[in-house]
Amino acid sequence: MNIKKEKSAIERLKAFEPETEPYYLCYSGGKDSDVIRILASLAGVKHEIHHNLTSVDAPETVYYVKSIPNVVIDVPHDKDGNRVSMWSLIVNKGLPPTRIMRYCCSELKEKGGKGRMKITGVRASESVNRAKNAGMIKIIGKPKTVQKTAENLGAEYEVSQMGGIVMNMDNDPNRRLVEHCYRTTTTMINPILDWTDSDVWEFLKHYGCQGNPLYKCGKKRVGCIGCPMQSGKGQIEEFDRYPKYKNLYIRAFDRMLKSHPDKDHYYSWKTGTDVFDWWTGFDSNQLSFFVEN
Ligand code: SF4
Repeated sequence: MNIKKEKSAIERLKAFEPETEPYYLCYSGGKDSDVIRILASLAGVKHEIHHNLTSVDAPETVYYVKSIPNVVIDVPHDKDGNRVSMWSLIVNKGLPPTRIMRYCCSELKEKGGKGRMKITGVRASESVNRAKNAGMIKIIGKPKTVQKTAENLGAEYEVSQMGGIVMNMDNDPNRRLVEHCYRTTTTMINPILDWTDSDVWEFLKHYGCQGNPLYKCGKKRVGCIGCPMQSGKGQIEEFDRYPKYKNLYIRAFDRMLKSHPDKDHYYSWKTGTDVFDWWTGFDSNQLSFFVEN
């Protein structure tokens, strides 16, 4: 096990712990979130463990999450108090979620913890985008104000390609910047940003964490059922395993087609099954769903 990385992650958590309230720990039920959960305990920092129910979580994940002591399960709602689910999003957005229009993560998984300091299990090795845009601390929102404050405090920061402020140091000015900003921005600490898959698995083994049972079924990632970030083959395998969800997606696509006022001019699909077949067939650029005029 990489003791140096473990110590460094623990130090990071201690360095940015809010003075007056617990961290908001984002817990998905996947292996990375098990690591941050254990690290937060090892660091002795105050934290609340939050899981957002997406409506398309695998049943195994829901059972596993519920088995974690003190986990808080949150159900996403909109500002009017209506439940937000994958099914409502598909109808409201008028499109299935795709790799290039991945609206569901921000609506279903990342909503909670406003005005709180969040711990995430983001790792740079998980994707090229993350490697380019993540930092050990990431601040999203009010970029001009944050940059001005950072400069006044002498914090060492960069602006990510996506416009967020990222920092990789845990010196005093950077800590003061976080204290100053986290109430009014989305501020995340990513203590295992530099961890590899092997670091994660060795750490979990060392601490006796069995993890989500889906990993034992050969899954490399534990995401939502039908997640478009996987291959079409992966989607089909999941729908073979959870056929009820295939029907739920087709019904949501049917409602999506019916609810769009210009549907006959806009879509080339006639039924929810057409959408589903396109969606899981994975057009290489995922752009050819409109009728060409
Ligand atoms: S994990 Fe996949 S399906 Fe789930 S919210 Fe994120 S992009 Fe959407």
